[in-house]
Amino acid sequence: MKPFTYERPTTLHEAAAAVMRQPGAKFIAGGTNLLDLMKLQIETPHHLVDVNGLGLERIELTPEGGLRVGALVRNTDLAANPRVRQDYGVLSRALLAGASGQLRNKATTAGNLLQRTRCPYFYDTNQACNKRQPGSGCSAIDGVTRSLGVVGTSTSCIATHPSDMAVAMRVLDATVETAQAGGQRRRIPIADFYRLPGNTPHIETNLEPGEIVTSVTLPPPIGGVHMYHKVRDRASYAFALVSVAAVVQPDGTGRVAFGGVAPRPWRVEAAEAALTKGAKGAEGAHALAASAFAEARPTPDNAYKVALAERTLGAVLSEARA
Ligand code: SF4
Repeated sequence: MKPFTYERPTTLHEAAAAVMRQPGAKFIAGGTNLLDLMKLQIETPHHLVDVNGLGLERIELTPEGGLRVGALVRNTDLAANPRVRQDYGVLSRALLAGASGQLRNKATTAGNLLQRTRCPYFYDTNQACNKRQPGSGCSAIDGVTRSLGVVGTSTSCIATHPSDMAVAMRVLDATVETAQAGGQRRRIPIADFYRLPGNTPHIETNLEPGEIVTSVTLPPPIGGVHMYHKVRDRASYAFALVSVAAVVQPDGTGRVAFGGVAPRPWRVEAAEAALTKGAKGAEGAHALAASAFAEARPTPDNAYKVALAERTLGAVLSEARA
């Protein structure tokens, strides 16, 4: 690990000023991803700004009847919150499908959103990677791509976003709240939070330099049956090959987002119309997946993900309706 300096501010203003003062400085909260990346010298910040003293660990009702989740709320606490379990079950289930108990105790809401890809070539500093070193190329594209993306990818990067939580947040239409370096506040719909890679895969979100996530708000509860199914190589402590977050209403309509297939949680609202025609499990899943993955460009190694996504969705819809 490269040497670095460290400070722990107590206000948002101090935190933003600290990270803007030193080029290459980084915010750190739980550190469950950043510290691994620093040990491997994939991230080499000269200065860490610890945000754990900013008082952002509250979960509270919003005036509209939704929920505001502080950026520093630990994944374990969010999953176990009674209101989340009752009204936002898809989120609780997605959180509990992620990582391990120890990691969830440490990992924060904002850190979960901002974690980096688990593309194996990103983690191997002997390999070319446009995300790690812009313009260097992408070793994955002609490599082993079984775990990588099938849709939303580009000729520069085919990595997936690894978060389970973000897939549930996407299906719930969450909003990311931030404070910019100059003190202005922003509200970014999660649909607009992540960027597709294009030819700049190293720029993953629409956050600006020095901008800090302060909370995530969930709209008022939408009812329905909340499901999160994650398909992975082993029963725990593994990232999704494919995941499906769904909220299905009694009349059969619903919302669906996929994880493990794209550089961001993959939800195509227009495709959800397939669930309004009274289609049953497999039939509705086929129509929805055909639309959601119409632009897919899988590799021979990962073409199975398109079929797996459809079948996982079919199982989710059947279970939800049962
Ligand atoms: Fe890097 Fe993206 Fe290529 Fe993986 S897929 S090696 S993260 S550029």
